Amino acid sequence: MIPELSYQDAVKSEYLAFLSALEKSEFSGDIEKSYASRLAVATDNSIYQLLPQAVILPRKHQDLVIMTELSLQTEFKTITFSPRGGGTGTNGQSLTDGIIVDMSRHMNNIIDINVEEGWVQVQTGVVKDQLNEFLKPYGFFFSPDLSTSNRATIGGMINTDASGQGSLKYGKTSDHVLAVSAVLMDGTELVTKNQSAEQVQEQALSNNYLGKVCHQVIDTIAHKQQTIADTFPPLNRFLTGYDLVHLYDKSTDEFDLGRILCGSEGSLAFITEAKLNLTPIPKYRCLVNVKYDSFDSALRNAPFLIKANALSVETVDSVVLNLAKQDIVWHSVKSLITDIPNKDMQGINFVEFAEDDGDIQQQKIDYLTAELDRLMVTGEAGVIGYQVCDQLSDVLKIYGMRKKAVGLLGATKGQAKPLAFAEDTAVPPENLADYIVEFRALLDSYNLHYGMFGHVDAGVLHVRPALDMLDPQQEVILREISDKVVALTAKYKGLMWGEHGRGFRSEYGPEFFGDELFTELRKIKAAFDPDNRLNPGKICTPINSDAKLVSVDAKKRGAFDRQIPVSIRESFTQSIDCNGNGLCFNYDTKSPMCPSFKHTGDRRHSPKGRAGLMREWLRQLSCHEMNEQELGQQLTVQKNGVATFTTRLKNSWNKARGRYDFSHEVMEAMQGCLACKACTVQCPVKVDVPEFRSRFIDQYHSRYMRPIKDFAVGYSESYTPMMAKVPNFFNFWLGQDWVQSAAKHTIGMVDIPLLSTPTLSESLRGHYAQSFDLAFLQRLSAEDKAQHVLIVQDPFTSFYEAELVESLVNLVEKLGLKPVILPFKPNGKPQHVKGFLAKFAKTAQTAADFLNSLHALGIPMVGVEPALVLCYRDEYKQALADKRGDFSVQLIQEWLLNDKVQANLNELVKRDENQPYYLFAHCTEKTNKPTAEQEWQRVFNGFGLALETVATGCCGMAGSYGHDAKNVAASKSIYSQSWKHALAQRDPSRCLATGYSCRSQVKRIDEVRLSHPIKALLGVLS
Ligand SMILES: Cc1cc2nc3c(=O)[nH]c(=O)nc-3n(C[C@H](O)[C@H](O)[C@H](O)COP(=O)(O)OP(=O)(O)OC[C@H]3O[C@@H](n4cnc5c(N)ncnc54)[C@H](O)[C@@H]3O)c2cc1C
Ligand code: SF4
Ligand code: SF4
Repeated sequence: MIPELSYQDAVKSEYLAFLSALEKSEFSGDIEKSYASRLAVATDNSIYQLLPQAVILPRKHQDLVIMTELSLQTEFKTITFSPRGGGTGTNGQSLTDGIIVDMSRHMNNIIDINVEEGWVQVQTGVVKDQLNEFLKPYGFFFSPDLSTSNRATIGGMINTDASGQGSLKYGKTSDHVLAVSAVLMDGTELVTKNQSAEQVQEQALSNNYLGKVCHQVIDTIAHKQQTIADTFPPLNRFLTGYDLVHLYDKSTDEFDLGRILCGSEGSLAFITEAKLNLTPIPKYRCLVNVKYDSFDSALRNAPFLIKANALSVETVDSVVLNLAKQDIVWHSVKSLITDIPNKDMQGINFVEFAEDDGDIQQQKIDYLTAELDRLMVTGEAGVIGYQVCDQLSDVLKIYGMRKKAVGLLGATKGQAKPLAFAEDTAVPPENLADYIVEFRALLDSYNLHYGMFGHVDAGVLHVRPALDMLDPQQEVILREISDKVVALTAKYKGLMWGEHGRGFRSEYGPEFFGDELFTELRKIKAAFDPDNRLNPGKICTPINSDAKLVSVDAKKRGAFDRQIPVSIRESFTQSIDCNGNGLCFNYDTKSPMCPSFKHTGDRRHSPKGRAGLMREWLRQLSCHEMNEQELGQQLTVQKNGVATFTTRLKNSWNKARGRYDFSHEVMEAMQGCLACKACTVQCPVKVDVPEFRSRFIDQYHSRYMRPIKDFAVGYSESYTPMMAKVPNFFNFWLGQDWVQSAAKHTIGMVDIPLLSTPTLSESLRGHYAQSFDLAFLQRLSAEDKAQHVLIVQDPFTSFYEAELVESLVNLVEKLGLKPVILPFKPNGKPQHVKGFLAKFAKTAQTAADFLNSLHALGIPMVGVEPALVLCYRDEYKQALADKRGDFSVQLIQEWLLNDKVQANLNELVKRDENQPYYLFAHCTEKTNKPTAEQEWQRVFNGFGLALETVATGCCGMAGSYGHDAKNVAASKSIYSQSWKHALAQRDPSRCLATGYSCRSQVKRIDEVRLSHPIKALLGVLS
């Protein structure tokens, strides 16, 4: 039995008093102080971990005014704040041990757009891709790009002055900020815009923070203009952190205070709104993917590519390319980056051209490709081939892969993981290749593994050397390398932070700015934040204060993780390996990635949040009085006996009376998970929440009683076959409102579906498909066996949608083959979901033994329900390892594409249909079998039908999740995020869903019966 975990790092008393006063004020946002909520924002994508005292999530600008004004009271003067957006910083920019002010959950509205004047006004919690999706119909986009565009917020972008691909043309975020609204630490509102020097001088007369700010910037410009011009390097990625260069425009005699805030990393003000300028979407975009024999060749060839008038040149090395090949993302790009026969592709440059004039675009492409042909003939520059992608969808796929590159590096096997600490240096592009030779020599001298990619056009290189932060010695190496890279970058006249901001690297600030200018920065900080309360220690500290800058030596995540014994860490890599890159915060409701986070906006309910809680849970267990071996034994599968019953009852009683146990906080986060499995594939490091969630639930119930509904779901495959024998009897009772209501109030289940009538055996009575006889099948000749197909039953379709199994039988027959339905064997998925792991292992072994005995026949086995078929492949492997055997159950579309079926199909007459069908694929299926949708399309094409895939997230049902009374509202809300709208736009009779859950959710909410693809196929053969 797991012990009670009472540690929760208590919130300091002055913070509790502040939060309580805030609760009593007019503040309308959320205030979170649970240990789990604090842990969920204690990390970003950096190596650091800092536990905040609380998380405040304002709803509107005025909430920040209320919060800052309250904090001015003497008793709250020690309280500090760190604004936060998507939390994707790579250097701990938003981490604090004070209060996190999260602008992303509520302040994410697009307020206004003016197409004529070319601007948009947004709240700063808006995500960059969300903004561009909104702008697309207007023909505009917000052009500064970054790899985290599907989760990074405008506030974060402004504060790190983000930029990325295309920066030579589109610049950095600060180049597009026309105005901002911000709240200063005394509650004053600052609205920036271009202002005449006279206006700023006038403001400088007032006695509030704004007056002091204006006074200071006038003073800095008056005395240091020349030093600023001399100090800031003339790079595309200018020196961020109080942009003194662009603060004042001598030619117009105007100030733009917004420039000071850009890149200030939340150390000067809370930015609540921004007015951003818009860039027209270019009409034509094309990528030329140039392949090289070495990464060095790729780097050295970059200036040549830029001279060909390219919009941007992005590079990746073979390490990154090879990692991409092992990820789901490769399916979308493999035909666009094909290998060159007999050549080793060690580097690649993606060269983009974007124009409004098609002729000019073509001329540029023709020029470059002719030059590349020439280089290939002469064998110069290491060019070994190239591919042109002129379809926008292909261009976006390549960039999708490129954007995932950092995350992919995290998938590196072993203890040493690629780390962000010197990953975004920028040097003048002409110095880049030589600089990298030295950089590599430095890393090689430490024998480190690393991958490289970057924006070669801007001289920005991304490199994450792999270090093991669980080993304290490697922290020392990290510091050494960090210092050496600073020196190397300075030698090549570059910057240590060319893209991702400073965060804990702020200690290097004086080195790059020089003492004189750094003093000016400190004066500016003192004017905005004299008591050093906003993101203290980042960028700089106020002048005349003895506060320290944060340092690379700050407490790292590794210091916590290394408290977990190695064997436990290795057994839970699915959670330990999360590197916080935040891809699971994807805002796009049409993507399957994490429905529970999308619905709640609560970081605890994301894969990252759950992985973080799991790590802390393992850490706390490890600190308990158990040695590694005992803990290892404890964390194996639970077998609760009668002996523990009374103790569990007592523990549950204490729980009901509110007794704290950290496990309850973890359980709450796990219960919000739909077990949809999107994270297991879409997360670049394959964080597998359903797997560790099951293990956690199993352990949790070694200490606490299970609710009845767990048994109702977990054992459903045992009792449903019996119920399905007399469906009319049970349907009579299930059809009564009072029975459904009683089920809701007793076992906590709602909308329990009716069983199929007629049953499968009734509708196929006397049919050959019902005549399963192993001995008979074994006796068949090879030729006869080839005519057979075995249908593997699942509880959903066989007992609740029997006509679908019947349709499959009919389809197999129409295709000239003989279907045989296998006797029903529980699959175990419901047991896995509910964490009955010992039972699941047993169920899985029984099913695997049975299926292995059939596998020997060599007859294809096909399953209808994708989630259960995929369970044979994934969960069975995890639970049974070698004992799983080699059996294979195919998804319907996989089987339909085999040669035999295709040959038979060619012989058949098909009814003409010219309207397309629309495929709503099951989210587990399309994430865990990335080619599933394309396979269905190929199948439909073979039947002479057109099939369009529809991008949707999760439907919200996910097996039993949507039937849990506690989850109904969430389930319906998740449905409305993508399914509802996508269906409303289409003729439902042409919409097809592959998942039983999805079909029943549509029926329950929209009262529409969606068909399965095989019914459409059957129709065309009728
Ligand atoms: C895999 C990966 C790839 C990346 N690629 C790029 C890239 O291509 N280009 C690039 O520029 N960056 C990149 N980054 C870094 C990061 O995504 C950017 O710095 C991004 O701008 C941060 O946005 P965010 O919303 O996550 O901000 P956060 O990380 O939450 O915060 C960043 C900083 O902004 C401050 N802040 C946030 N919102 C506000 C606000 N409203 N008011 C005041 N201060 C605020 C915070 O205090 C913090 O200092 C990458 C990061 C990762 C993990
Ligand atoms: S769970 Fe995966 S996608 Fe999410 S932050 Fe962790 S590593 Fe990134
Ligand atoms: S299984 Fe689905 S709901 Fe659960 S964490 Fe993963 S993506 Fe989110």
